[in-house]
Amino acid sequence: MQPIQFFDAASSTFTYVLFDEASREAVIIDPVDQQVERDLATLRQYGLKLLWTVETHAHADHITSAGMLAEHAGARTAAPAGCGITTAAVQLQHGDQLDFGHETLRVLHTPGHTAGSMSYVWREHVFTGDTLLINGCGRTDFQSGSATALYHSITQVLFALPDATTVWPAHDYHGRTHSTIGAEKAGNARVAGKTEAEFVAIMNNLNLPKPKRIDEAVPANLTSGMRHDAEGQAAGSGTAPDAQAVRRVDGYAGDVTPQLACAWWQSGDAVLVDVRSDAEREWVGFIPDSMSVAWKQWPGMTMNPQFDQALLAAVPKGKKVVLLCRSGVRSIAAAKRATELGLQAYNILEGFEGNPDASAHRGKQGGWRKHGLPWRQN
Ligand code: FE
Repeated sequence: MQPIQFFDAASSTFTYVLFDEASREAVIIDPVDQQVERDLATLRQYGLKLLWTVETHAHADHITSAGMLAEHAGARTAAPAGCGITTAAVQLQHGDQLDFGHETLRVLHTPGHTAGSMSYVWREHVFTGDTLLINGCGRTDFQSGSATALYHSITQVLFALPDATTVWPAHDYHGRTHSTIGAEKAGNARVAGKTEAEFVAIMNNLNLPKPKRIDEAVPANLTSGMRHDAEGQAAGSGTAPDAQAVRRVDGYAGDVTPQLACAWWQSGDAVLVDVRSDAEREWVGFIPDSMSVAWKQWPGMTMNPQFDQALLAAVPKGKKVVLLCRSGVRSIAAAKRATELGLQAYNILEGFEGNPDASAHRGKQGGWRKHGLPWRQN
C-alpha cells in the first residue's frame, strides 16, 4: 500500500494521506492551509473518515490546516510533544502509536531540524519531515535546531530502519517525490560517509536566508493554524458566565451556553442552526429538528452566497438564531456573518463536542453533548 502524496507548490511541501482500506479511517501528515479544499475533496472522493491530523514539527514555511481539518472533518490533532503546539489534542512522545482502523502509525523522535521534530513509520514507509530530505536534510540554524542531534537522528534512528523502507520527506525542491533508506545511506550528499564533525561543519556553513514566512507561520502553527483572532475568541475572555448568561461581544449579539441556547430553541424564541458539514453530523452526531447550513468559509476565503441564502431561508423574521459548530470557532464566524445579514445571532459556546482550551479558561463548561441536551447518532 502506498500513501497518497500531495504537493503544495508555494511552499514545496508534501502532504500525505494514509488510510485503512476496510474501515476507511485515515491520517493526514503535514496538511497545508491553502490546500484544505483539495484535502477535504480527497477525503470525500475516497470515502475516508479523517481520524488524525499529524505534524512532523512546527513549520516555518507554511501554515498547517490541522485546526481547520479538526473543525471541518472531525479529526483529532496530534503533534510532537516538544514542539509547543499547545492546541494539539494529543502530544506525541517517542514510541507512541496512532491507530487508524487496523493500521498503525509509529512515532520516532528525530530532533535536529527542530528540537521536537518527529518522523512517523507506517508499514514499510517513513515520513521524515525535514529531518531527512532526498539527498539532503533540513536546516538546523533556528527553532532550537542542532546539527549534532540531526546527525544522530539520521544515522542512528532513521538509518536503523530496513534499507527498503520508502522515505517520504516534507519537502523537495527538485521535482523528486520519494527515496529509500538504502539510497540515502549510500548517497545522501550531507550524511553518507560523513563523520559527525564533517556533517556539523557542512550544516554550520550553509548560510541560508531566513524563511520568508517564519514570523507568521510559526506562531500560527503553535495554535494548529487556527490563527490568533479565532483562537482568542474561542478561548474566551477569562470570565466564567453562569449557565443562563449571555456574554456580550463585538460583531454579533452574544455568546450563549448550550443550555440557554437549547432553552430558547425549545421555547420557539430561536432557530438552532448547525453549521457543521454533513459528514461531521453523520460521524459524530446531530440534533434532531435543528437546521443544517454548513459554514464553508475560513480566514482568507471569499464570501459564500449559498450560506447567506440558506441561512436567511432558515430563520424567520423576528426570531433569534443560535449557531452551533464542533467546538465554537466556526460558529463565531457564522454568527458574525449572520449579523451582517441583519439577524440577531448568537454563538453557542464550545459547540457540539466542547473545546478543551475554552473549558480551561471558563471552568470546564463543555459543549452541547456534555450537558444532556437532545442529540442522536446515525
Ligand atoms: Fe521545517
